[in-house]
Amino acid sequence: MKITEIRTKVLGTKIDFPIHTSFGTMTQRYMILVNIRTNSGLEGWGESWSNFPAWSPYERIHTINAGLSPLLIGEDPLDISQLHTKMRRASRILERQWGAPGPIAQAISALDIALWDIVAKAQNKPLYQLWDAQNTQIPVYASALGPQDPTNLIEKMQAQGISAFKLKLGFGLNTDKRNLEQIRELIGPDAMLMVDANQAWDLQTSLNMISILEPYQINWLEEPLAADEWANMAKLRQELPFKLAAGENIFSSQSFETFLGMGAIDIAQPDVCKIGGLSEMREVCLQAQALNLPFAPHYLGGAVGFLASLHLFAGTKGGLIMELDPHENPLREDFIGDLVQVIDGHLQVPQRPGLGFDANESRIKKYLLDELVCP
Ligand SMILES: [Mg+2]
Repeated sequence: MKITEIRTKVLGTKIDFPIHTSFGTMTQRYMILVNIRTNSGLEGWGESWSNFPAWSPYERIHTINAGLSPLLIGEDPLDISQLHTKMRRASRILERQWGAPGPIAQAISALDIALWDIVAKAQNKPLYQLWDAQNTQIPVYASALGPQDPTNLIEKMQAQGISAFKLKLGFGLNTDKRNLEQIRELIGPDAMLMVDANQAWDLQTSLNMISILEPYQINWLEEPLAADEWANMAKLRQELPFKLAAGENIFSSQSFETFLGMGAIDIAQPDVCKIGGLSEMREVCLQAQALNLPFAPHYLGGAVGFLASLHLFAGTKGGLIMELDPHENPLREDFIGDLVQVIDGHLQVPQRPGLGFDANESRIKKYLLDELVCP
């Protein structure tokens, strides 16, 4: 089998309710889609992370189309490991010179996911069946709650059996405390409650926050510090009476191994659309497993990355819980529809070959903003 053509598409849409984090606000949703076509008729789909900044889709479409896709044209898509290495090798110096290890890893992620989709379709199996675990009921939590009206989506989530929630922090002590109080009161003492500061604090502030957070029975504290302050994270972890989670802003399995080796976290949170795709996400999960640490995939994007994340969780040992963004996202909902449902707080894994993504042309057209084709 040979790769004949790679299409990169930017899909986007405005959203009615912006998503606020301690570092910025999302008023638009994007999905950068990669479609790898082959001479056998089989095709694969992948997605690249592009939530921030708002102009990142316009960088990404060119990085994929001009920088990486030419490396794959004419190659055998079943040879994933060799192709992944080829993409990493070719961009190693460029990513430093450009100062862009993140964007490059995110671009590689899309192509890598699309290759895995083809491999599973070639075997006529759902993707997760290529790996060693077979979890088909995936526990899920609702994330990205707050800072305004942090409880407004909770009843809707509880109606689907979800009893684990994650609140955004880092909006000042008064707002953070008020939100913690409201949410814990509504979900009750037994529900899982996680908090995410999105890198808002320094080490001292994080240490000061321990006594504030403790009464709310926090299951994990996520990214309290800048994502590259690994040594400080390891120090903080020693002091925490609850678990420390991070990993969404690490851009290779190689870096993740060093990060884990420093004893910086209790729960690994790689993002399949940021770390380098399914190949490196699997690698990170195996690294965590070797240290007896669970993983909880980070994910806040469109349909294809969501399906990739779900299959990874289903096929890999050591998964703790999956992230489900409860906010409006037509680029996930319109494409997934009834394919993935939450039943009794668990996601069901699609049983179609590959990722199970339904590449409906008219739906893609509805959101299409730009498209480039290689060669
Ligand atoms: Mg986070």
